[in-house]
Formats: sequence, C-alpha cells, structure tokens
Amino acid sequence: MSDANDPTTAIHCPACHERDVLATLREDVWYLGPTAWILGRECYAKCSRCGKESMFYGVTLAEVFGQTADELSAHLVGPASARAQTMAAIALLTCFLPIIGFLLARKAWRLNRNAHGLSKQTSMAALIVSIPMLISGLFALILIPVLLLLKAT
Ligand SMILES: [Zn+2]
Repeated sequence: MSDANDPTTAIHCPACHERDVLATLREDVWYLGPTAWILGRECYAKCSRCGKESMFYGVTLAEVFGQTADELSAHLVGPASARAQTMAAIALLTCFLPIIGFLLARKAWRLNRNAHGLSKQTSMAALIVSIPMLISGLFALILIPVLLLLKAT
C-alpha cells in the first residue's frame, strides 16, 4: 500500500493491457491566477511496464489510494493509439471539406473519444467544424440540381 509521499498504485494499464502493474501517480492542479483558487485537477498514472500515462476521470489523487486496480479501471482512460492520433491529424486537415470532412472527423472522434490528451481535443474540434460544412455540403447537393433545372426551363 502507498500514500501521498510514495505515489504508486497497482492498475490495469489501458495502454498495454497489463493487469495489476505498478504505476507512478502524478497530479496536475490548475489554479486561476496566483491565488489558491483551484480550477481543476487531473490525475495521471504512468505504467511501469509500457511507460505510457493514463488519466483518471472523476477521482482525485487522494481518492486513488485505497482502491484496487479493479475499482480504478472504471476511472482510468488510456492515451490515444498511434492510429487514433493520425486520424485526428487527418480530421483536422480535412474538416473544412464538405461532407467528407465530417465522415473523417466522425471516424477520428470514434477512435479518440475513449482516450485522453490532445488528439481527443483535436478530433472533437474537427468534428465541430465539420458539422456546418456537412450541412452546407448537403444543401449545395440539393440546391445545385434545382438551380440547374430552373435554368434549363
Ligand atoms: Zn502499460
């Protein structure tokens, strides 16, 4: 068993799928300005086997201690895979394209939504940008044939 002076605990690593592996814990605390007004806390566990950091959702560092790896696994989210990160980058580059941008962004979001980190935020941003592009693309698909028909008559 460990405490706050020795921040390690056993986890089921979401990145390498090793069970009951020792992980080093770290907590990021976000303050508003120089005052001690805490905006948020993020707690991470670095796997001693694969070295990748997973993130805890809904538990603080203090709450992690005393919980078993089974109990913690419900709160633990792994980093995005290389494929998910690549897809997020593609989605960011293509999200301005009508229709296809949305399809790629939706795929990137599906790969990244159960991960933590930059590629999740990137794929979410790409998805948000792609939605109006999807709507305008579909609108153009309907409107252009109508305009062509009107012109022909
Ligand atoms: Zn691991």
